[in-house]
Amino acid sequence: MIDPWGSANLEYMDLIEKFGVRPFSEVLDDVPEPSWLMRRGIVFGHRDYGRILEAIRSGSDFAVVTGMMPSGRMHIGHKMIVDQLRWYDKVGAEIFIPIADMEAYSARGIDFETSRRIAIEEYIAGYIALGLDLTKDNIHVYLQSENLMVEDLAYVLAGKVNFNELRAIYGFTGSTSMAHMYAPIIQVADILHPQLEELGGPRPTVVPVGPDQDPHIRLTRDIAGRFREKYGFILPSSTYHRFMGGLTGGKMSSSRPKSAIFLSDTPEEAEEKIRNAKTGGRETLKEQRELGGVPEDCIIYETLLYHMSGSDPELEEIYESCRNGTLMCGECKNNTAEFIRKFFEELSRKRKKALSTAGRVLEG
Ligand code: SF4
Repeated sequence: MIDPWGSANLEYMDLIEKFGVRPFSEVLDDVPEPSWLMRRGIVFGHRDYGRILEAIRSGSDFAVVTGMMPSGRMHIGHKMIVDQLRWYDKVGAEIFIPIADMEAYSARGIDFETSRRIAIEEYIAGYIALGLDLTKDNIHVYLQSENLMVEDLAYVLAGKVNFNELRAIYGFTGSTSMAHMYAPIIQVADILHPQLEELGGPRPTVVPVGPDQDPHIRLTRDIAGRFREKYGFILPSSTYHRFMGGLTGGKMSSSRPKSAIFLSDTPEEAEEKIRNAKTGGRETLKEQRELGGVPEDCIIYETLLYHMSGSDPELEEIYESCRNGTLMCGECKNNTAEFIRKFFEELSRKRKKALSTAGRVLEG
């Protein structure tokens, strides 16, 4: 059982071995101009991605659905979703971005007003600042609680889902609230509603998620099958990405401020956090020269892997010189801190501008 609301430390390959997710590497060569997240194995798994590739290649209609949970500050670990959406926008997808305010209420006790404010100030402003134009006609951002099409569909879908099934997937018990039990069905409707006749009818849909969200994908695919006759649903595809680690070890999380660089941090704060981040370096310079560092266990390297877009050879060189002991952590950290400070100088400017327009995205 995987708990999408907990902090389960899931071994990524478990998904592939136990839950039927396929390695993304098997379709990578067929992706026209794959994103760096795909090339570098950050997007590591998929279900039924062939349908999406076919749609991209033939220029036919397909949708992407990926939600934002308005329950804390947006950090650079969340940036990878925006980077993926920018790529999907470029290859012609229609993009749906539900703001999971109903789930935030039922699973985390956050009221709708607060969710709306967090969504605008943290996430919508962040997405815009990171370069996704949310005013485009092919991009739809909505609050779950305000989307009647989604709510109506969820109610119909709930007619064929029972408690035993939800208990088996999510571990719900007799003391789980009705609202919490209903939250997954709303998400299923978020994913399937782009296929309703009102929005153009059945089409391939892909959901980029972290591995902890796979229970929702499996439930959605099961339910889509039950309603295939009524709505003609095509089973949604999914991709799975790794999470960036925390700056101080463990998981990057909004609830552990030192573990993350937040989009609202100043360039100086962001730089300072990188300078204090955990590395994969050795105890002494002598040891590092002799044994080399361990980039696989280094948040500095991971920061570059996730965020230094489009520069694979440069990244490979950093990896190699770390491993062979010619690059020392001090120099490597300095360069990365500089890279992040520059990135945040630009981001802070864009974010400030985006804050003045973000509220309008939900009015459209
Ligand atoms: Fe990390 Fe760079 Fe040190 Fe290697 S040299 S362990 S990549 S900080």
